[in-house]
Amino acid sequence: MGQTESEIRLYGIAASPGVAIGAVLVIGTEMLKVEKKTIPAKAVSAELDKFDTALAKSMSDVEKIYDMAAVTHGEEAAQIFNVHKAMLSDPMLVEETRKIIKNDKTNADYAFSFVMDKYITILQGFQDELFKARAVDVQDLKRRVIRYIRGESQRQLARIGAPVVIFATELTPSDTVQLEKSNILGFATDYGARTSHATILARSIGVPAVVGLNSAAKVMRDGITVILDGDEGLCVINPSKKSLALYKKRYDAYISLEKRLESIKALPARTLDGKDLALASNIEFPEEADHIRELHGDGIGLFRTEYLYLAGPTEPTEEQQLNDYKHIAEQVGGKPVIIRTFDLGGDKPPVSLSLPVEDNPFLGVRGVRLYRDSGHELFRTQIRAIVRASIFGDVRIMFPMIACVSEVHYCKNVVKEIQAELDQEGIPFKENIPIGAMIEVPSAAATADIIAKECDFLSIGTNDLIQYTTAVDRGNKNLDYLYQPYNPAVLRLIHQTIKKGHQQGTWVGMCGEMASDPLMTMVLIGMGLDEFSVSPVSHLLIKQIIRLVDFHACERSAETALDFSSTDQVQTYLKNLCYENFPDLLRS
Ligand code: PEP
Ligand code: MG
Repeated sequence: MGQTESEIRLYGIAASPGVAIGAVLVIGTEMLKVEKKTIPAKAVSAELDKFDTALAKSMSDVEKIYDMAAVTHGEEAAQIFNVHKAMLSDPMLVEETRKIIKNDKTNADYAFSFVMDKYITILQGFQDELFKARAVDVQDLKRRVIRYIRGESQRQLARIGAPVVIFATELTPSDTVQLEKSNILGFATDYGARTSHATILARSIGVPAVVGLNSAAKVMRDGITVILDGDEGLCVINPSKKSLALYKKRYDAYISLEKRLESIKALPARTLDGKDLALASNIEFPEEADHIRELHGDGIGLFRTEYLYLAGPTEPTEEQQLNDYKHIAEQVGGKPVIIRTFDLGGDKPPVSLSLPVEDNPFLGVRGVRLYRDSGHELFRTQIRAIVRASIFGDVRIMFPMIACVSEVHYCKNVVKEIQAELDQEGIPFKENIPIGAMIEVPSAAATADIIAKECDFLSIGTNDLIQYTTAVDRGNKNLDYLYQPYNPAVLRLIHQTIKKGHQQGTWVGMCGEMASDPLMTMVLIGMGLDEFSVSPVSHLLIKQIIRLVDFHACERSAETALDFSSTDQVQTYLKNLCYENFPDLLRS
């Protein structure tokens, strides 16, 4: 495609913020074709040997990539390969493959592919992008092992000699760490999600990424110019002079903002008139904790533990979880770590439990509702691991999808039982582990005072609170107009939750996406929110806003915002408010 061709604009998912302008380097990901072949009985043992050798070679590769990633991309990126290592030595995967080779007398690459595909299908079947994204990792590993079984060489990515925007249909973690960091301007992919490893790596490198572009592969060629807008999820291919000039300006503004924000890293999240706010981070993977300390924040306000349950074909053991929780607690150096017990069920069924199919999974057996029956043992195991991890730092427990206080009673009783059990076994733990509830169901918001009485803290989950308040599936793109954080009903529920929590002397945080929305920061401070738990990339921006505003002015803004009758009015007001107070901080 030459410069004379017209500009193409493709919209995807805004995965990592920032602006990149540069030439494209396409990285191809070929599809592996695997055929089933019947082998003679006498060839079975040779086939098993091929499989074992392929596993050993893959393990050695993954170990090397781990070391390389640790040096070039830091611990966070490297930890991803620990998941690969765990899968390669997972007895279920290995034994099932061996069984198929032996019993079906079939080729090793087919047997391994069959086992991996079952697992990939489960992951791809989830609605939640977090779990879908894990399928890419499993594919990555599958390709590596199969290439070794067939005696083929592994894909080596060429050294990148000049700054480029990487484009791939799909970017695997091993691709990403092999790339030379210094010359990468950004990432664009056809597949991928906000929570895929490639996205996390892009964020850890600190370059913009737009994923889920669907059809970019058709037009991407080495050397064509693209603009990536990681805030808007936009990829402009072969941009016009006008677009280039516009984005060059945005790029310059972005870089100067990043530089300014760097300078407040070590400063407190304190308003102009001296009110201190807790500013914590949300993480999805244990390895993400490695960079949290550098943010000088208030630890982790939400660790979504669901991924642990889908990282392998079996549920994580108590010891595995203990290791992960200990790692996180130690990484954040004594700061709070709020571990949310698994929010599985609904659209994210745990792999090992066969739950009944439900008509409305989001209204079904999800989160805490799973802990009573089929998920009881899983819950007990997780609580044992969390309680045991309490000796390694300031570990706290939070329960998801609380709809009424009896669910809190139930969970607290399990915690007590586990503590008694550990006591008897002589296993150490901290007695007074703080316990909190997520407020993300309207019935919980309406009874936040009753729930707060039973808890050490509350954390508002706006992603679900908006969904359940407006009766809109949070993933339904057709009802975007209704799924709105600025809906007056949502604002009232948040305000009431904070007030009711405070009446009981319980602090109230927010870990839903709204906490990372710069338009909402002033109003949330004014409502009295105690803690903001935000995605690490938004951390400094939210801190800077906190540092630029006056608490009493925020209180007035909250009062005004709560008075409007429509979402549009609230949104217009918030935009004007932010442009008045910190115009140069708004990225789009
Ligand atoms: C929420 O609902 O706002 C939340 C933080 O939880 P999740 O997004 O994991 O459902
Ligand atoms: Mg939620």
